[in-house]
Amino acid sequence: MTEDSGAHWADAAPERVAELNAVKADETPEWIKGGMPPQPVTVTVGTQTFAVKKAQFLTAKIGWALLSGPADVDDLLAVSADGGQSWHAEVTSDIAAAVEAERKRMKRTEQEAVLYVSQDAAAKTVGSAWTLLPDKAAPGDVVLVRSNEPGEIDWEGKKYALQPFGAGYFTYIPLSMAIKPGKYPIGSESLTIVSKKFETQYLQVTKQLESMKQDSARIAADQKKIDLARSQSKPEFLFSKANFIQPIEGILTTPYGYTRYVNGKFDSSHRALDLAAKEGTPIKATNDGIVALADSLYLTGNTIYIDHGMGLFSQYAHLSKLMVKTGDEVKQGDIIGLVGTTGFSTGPHLHFTYWAHNVPVNPNLFFGTTPFHWNEPQQEQKPAQNTPTQKQDSKQ
Ligand SMILES: [Zn+2]
Repeated sequence: MTEDSGAHWADAAPERVAELNAVKADETPEWIKGGMPPQPVTVTVGTQTFAVKKAQFLTAKIGWALLSGPADVDDLLAVSADGGQSWHAEVTSDIAAAVEAERKRMKRTEQEAVLYVSQDAAAKTVGSAWTLLPDKAAPGDVVLVRSNEPGEIDWEGKKYALQPFGAGYFTYIPLSMAIKPGKYPIGSESLTIVSKKFETQYLQVTKQLESMKQDSARIAADQKKIDLARSQSKPEFLFSKANFIQPIEGILTTPYGYTRYVNGKFDSSHRALDLAAKEGTPIKATNDGIVALADSLYLTGNTIYIDHGMGLFSQYAHLSKLMVKTGDEVKQGDIIGLVGTTGFSTGPHLHFTYWAHNVPVNPNLFFGTTPFHWNEPQQEQKPAQNTPTQKQDSKQ
């Protein structure tokens, strides 16, 4: 799109039709401009009707028409900002405002469109009142919801406000581990939840390690820091169309969603991946973002949270070394720290997950794709990796 698309011709003197035609070079895709109205044969300006010599619509709304003037005057140029329903002999402030609004709308649409897998996918989504990315999910997953209108979504007892971005309004909705299979209406669409079985894992740790979980004052103090870091997220998607990456290769010792017992007592659902690797293995940022927290915490050891915008964070725990600090901007693939075994941990590994609005969600959904591609059938989904063979080797 040219810098002054739409505005250029409107500001030009009406008689300079040649200059106006330069707008034809505008590279905005046709679907963003909208369906072009039919070419007018005559147009009415005020109370007079004129024959049209030449006319062009630049978008579905904005157009100009060169008219045959009366015998004693030069040709006239008329402009329309409502798809040819009304025509005006000059660019009034209302028309200038309409042109500017249209220019902004096209820019916002282009900003969003680049995130989809193709122009067709973008056009389909922007043209729909509601889109669920994806429209089929399992307990512990996350869904990106898009609407053409602002509002909020009631989901499992919480409200999620749709945030403006591009030409639409978005929010992530995290799914609990306990959600029942079925169809759930969201806007004009329906989200299908399929059932998923999660394995149980029995972890044996030393009494000393086990007692760490009893220091509730330190745990609460850390939680305050974490909550503060995750309470603010940039109101835009901070990643581009590049696919999210797994931060280290590692060996999967605990998959996502395992029900975990520590020394025989129920502990939690392990809503993260544990990837075992040699101490000192470099850890990559999964995608672009801003470091929301890089700190030494009690249970998760040296820990990093990266804000990817719109309430989505990635988390990296038990590091031997932090190589970024809170507030740093990171690019996908940047080395942010090294694998370690700090905090509640039985050996060198990376505990990695994503958080959507303070709920941990399935990391496997992200690798090799982005939320904007989650409805694509060719989506590259990592198969479940090797399951732990020796359960007591599993890491927190
Ligand atoms: Zn873990």
